[in-house]
Amino acid sequence: MLLLWALAGSVQAQKFERVVIDPGHGGKDNGSKWYGVAEKTLTLDLAKRIQKVLEGKGIDAKLTRSTDIYVELVDRAAVANKTPNTLFLSVHFNAHRDRSIKGIETFYYPGSTEGRVLATYVQSELGNRIKTRNRGVKPARLKVLRETKGVAVLVECGFISNRWECQRCASSWFRQVLAEEIVEGILRYR
Ligand SMILES: [Zn+2]
Repeated sequence: MLLLWALAGSVQAQKFERVVIDPGHGGKDNGSKWYGVAEKTLTLDLAKRIQKVLEGKGIDAKLTRSTDIYVELVDRAAVANKTPNTLFLSVHFNAHRDRSIKGIETFYYPGSTEGRVLATYVQSELGNRIKTRNRGVKPARLKVLRETKGVAVLVECGFISNRWECQRCASSWFRQVLAEEIVEGILRYR
């Protein structure tokens, strides 16, 4: 029985061959900025950490930007669209006028069954390890997801408008935890 499972596993094609990680914002676009912390800086650092963890697992991973530059949403999606079997993962940090709001949520494009599955795995891995409000998985008509042909999700990794969550998101140990859990979710999808 075990042998059969192993054989079945080896012939089954993997759902993806590479991951394109998209650090939200950049350059002239700070994203949200609270308590002196800019979203674009956090997303770039997190994306690089995710890339490293993925590569450590032998998975090909590319970034839509690797420096502090502005990239249009369509060009971000185009990086993923260049190659088949490519997962697209956009990372952001959230903000709200009501500073008491906190938590992590993951978005997929409405009607994308596979996007919802991947979003569910990523969100549940994050929710298992990180103590904050689990805001769940939600469909959203986000342009960057719409323009991506393959499976695509966008993770909002915490509210930097909440002082407690901002402090955590600004710490490198916490971004490492985020990276590891996001990769766990991607591996479950595989
Ligand atoms: Zn953002």
